Amino acid sequence: MGYVASELIDGHGRRIDYLRLSVVEQCQMRCFYCHPGRNRAPAAPRLPAASVVRLAAAFVALGVKRVRLTGGEPLLRNDLATIAAGIHACDGVEEVTLSTNGERLAPMATALHAAGINRVNISLDSLNHKSFRRITGNGDLSRVISGIDAALDCGLQPVKLNMVVMRGINDHEIGPMLDFASERELDLRFIETMPIGSAGVESSRRLVSSDIILNKVRDHCGSDLVPVMDRRGGGPARYFRVGNSAMTVGVISAMSRHFCTDCNRVRLTASGDLQLCLGRPGQVALGGMIREGASDDDLQRAIRGAVQRKPLAHGFADPAVSASLEMTALGG
Ligand code: SAM
Repeated sequence: MGYVASELIDGHGRRIDYLRLSVVEQCQMRCFYCHPGRNRAPAAPRLPAASVVRLAAAFVALGVKRVRLTGGEPLLRNDLATIAAGIHACDGVEEVTLSTNGERLAPMATALHAAGINRVNISLDSLNHKSFRRITGNGDLSRVISGIDAALDCGLQPVKLNMVVMRGINDHEIGPMLDFASERELDLRFIETMPIGSAGVESSRRLVSSDIILNKVRDHCGSDLVPVMDRRGGGPARYFRVGNSAMTVGVISAMSRHFCTDCNRVRLTASGDLQLCLGRPGQVALGGMIREGASDDDLQRAIRGAVQRKPLAHGFADPAVSASLEMTALGG
């Protein structure tokens, strides 16, 4: 049967067309603002590739157009290319993208691109080897940079860099990061620290607001910043062109500006739980339904019903809500 366009509209009238799909909870890095450390709940059983693809296909059939593979660290899964290819083959999907810390990307980039990944976001919080290791616990900056270059070389473009800016940790590196991004023609986004999980709650005292970040960008570049529409995302980032140059920078102001009214996304955990909001607990066990033999119709009905209950706004203002969340499980 041919493809029939469908739409997924939540209870507040928002069109949900973006799925963030965590394929694995584990990460080889231990970023201090993200990793739950000893507080971590035991990892839930991970869905096999075929079930991941089946769930993604159910969302795509309902109107999701973009799927981002995330985690944990998605490149820890050996069958990531199989997952990407399966989702890429779904009628109606426009883009399959990847969020990674980049450390394992260099040897995998070409295969992932061939499997249907269109573009990649790479997290990079520091260009200083020592400080990178301090932030990530054990990360190897040289390998991340090789991953960035491999992504550029194989055509996984545009490559976006995501930098979580933290006071006293890396806020002095906004300038060097701008230069690095400009030299390689990378898109760069600065992210406000979010109080997600105990690590995030603790780290959010280092929050640098996007207004301060943008002032530092202006100071470094000596240019005005001109607001532009995001041509590719439709997500929460606001983009600015730097003076008359070709360079754009984005800021994700999860804390200083509420962008929930435009939220277009839902998330799936690595065990197949549907998470309706990054900043509110509450899940629907779609993976469990698959294990119990649910049909595709059952899955789609459950998704439609759940999306009606998508919260209007995150609950980051409530420390109890924030502490109950876990970034590595929810996929950022
Ligand atoms: N491992 C992959 C990566 O590094 O991109 C994907 C998962 S990671 C959880 C996704 C993104 O969430 C990363 O850019 C990371 O820096 C960001 N992140 C994690 N904890 C955060 C927090 N508390 N506030 C803001 N961003 C956070």
